[in-house]
Amino acid sequence: MTIAEWLRKLRNGEVSSLELLNEQFSRIKSIDGSIRSYLYLNYEQAKSEAIKIDEARSAGEDLPPLAGVPFAIKDNLCTKGIPTTCSSRMLENFVPPYESTVTKRLWQAGGILIGKTNLDEFAMGSSTETSAFGATANPWDVSRVPGGSSGGSAAAVASGLCMASLGSDTGGSIRQPASFCGVVGLKPTYGRVSRWGLIAFASSLDQVGPFANTVADAAEVLQVISGADSKDSTCLDEPVPNYVANLSKPISGFRIGLIKECFEQNGLSPEVKETNLRAADMLQSLGAELIEVSCPRFVDGISTYYLIAPSEASANLARYDGVKYGYRSEEKDNLLSMTTLSRATGFGPEVQRRILIGTYALSAGYGDAYYKKAQQVRTLISRDFQKAFECVDILLTPTSPTTAFKAGSHKDDPLQMYLSDLLTIPANLAGLPSISLPCGFDNLGLPIGLQLIANVLDENRLLQVAHQYEQHAEIMKHAPNNDFILN
Ligand code: GLN
Repeated sequence: MTIAEWLRKLRNGEVSSLELLNEQFSRIKSIDGSIRSYLYLNYEQAKSEAIKIDEARSAGEDLPPLAGVPFAIKDNLCTKGIPTTCSSRMLENFVPPYESTVTKRLWQAGGILIGKTNLDEFAMGSSTETSAFGATANPWDVSRVPGGSSGGSAAAVASGLCMASLGSDTGGSIRQPASFCGVVGLKPTYGRVSRWGLIAFASSLDQVGPFANTVADAAEVLQVISGADSKDSTCLDEPVPNYVANLSKPISGFRIGLIKECFEQNGLSPEVKETNLRAADMLQSLGAELIEVSCPRFVDGISTYYLIAPSEASANLARYDGVKYGYRSEEKDNLLSMTTLSRATGFGPEVQRRILIGTYALSAGYGDAYYKKAQQVRTLISRDFQKAFECVDILLTPTSPTTAFKAGSHKDDPLQMYLSDLLTIPANLAGLPSISLPCGFDNLGLPIGLQLIANVLDENRLLQVAHQYEQHAEIMKHAPNNDFILN
């Protein structure tokens, strides 16, 4: 059910917030042992919030827009008084003394926190397997990964364990898991949404965004979390338009650009390619014009990203030194060995790998050759996009080259894992808004994602095209069949 449908039921008194919440928690109890999307459940607090909302509703009070809607939050967003681990031993016992801006806005809008969801450690990964607390499974096939790093938030929406959720996207961590789990995932324009209280991975790329069952639900959530924040100087001070108002408007005359290089990739699964091309045809039948465009630097995104993101991560993660907060080793001999051992034990192998790559790329003598060069290529990638947007309104590519892969299959091959973000990373490098939505299934019945990318701050048209496609294509007629878990 969509947020709008639930809100209607809540308003009509067909169901109370508490009943809705209890239903979600009992579903979590029966299914989440097999999916493992949640790291922390917030039952007591959620229950008292739901009761308050029910009382206010029966007293006839005016309620905020999302009153009583249960949300799951990726565990790298700080929640005051509630553990926030980043799926790392380093922050296993961290309880933030403050609330992130995005979650604060959700609670002010009446949203209820169901729980915190699993992720790749410090959001580094594409499968949720680098979590220090165990992997999350894909609800469509529990032997496969849900994607990552926001795999818990995507799986929770896909299996009906929350109404919508938040994730973060540095190189694809919202869109790729959305694609693998058959839900909608939106990465807004860099700076559209505040990052205050988001535990930093790569600050020039990180952005928070929603997962939802429908494009309209994602638009509702974006509406609430967007807008300037005095606590985040990278957050844009631009007015927030109405993201829901234009959704139903026709898209005839829209120019949709198919990025040639993306459809010519070696690793692109033929089924993913065909299904995405069919989605493009559907948009054409709705009156959009299809135009082939070339972004020659698009495919250099991955090598550029794997210099810039680890460089920024190595700086951001320097704060975990065993002194200020986080895990501290027992080593008492001297400061250096205490810090070294804290970091060697507190961080898992993927995080350590990123810190090593980043430190190397930034080190004296290599900074110009690697980091600066990567920044130059980043500029070229942005220019490719700007050129493309001179002749089209929206760009279209598959979200990920493949559908969900088997758990463990990329374990010893980080490069293979990195390649699953080939098509999502360029939008982060250029700061552009981008959405993934389901466009079909492969022959194993696994969902395939369609990625749309818009120009800076053009979320409105992005959502409009996505919504029109969703309404006409009617892909998600069924949810993953989780009954096998119940039986
Ligand atoms: N999978 C990419 C990485 O490992 C992107 C992660 C993200 O977007 N947080 O870095």
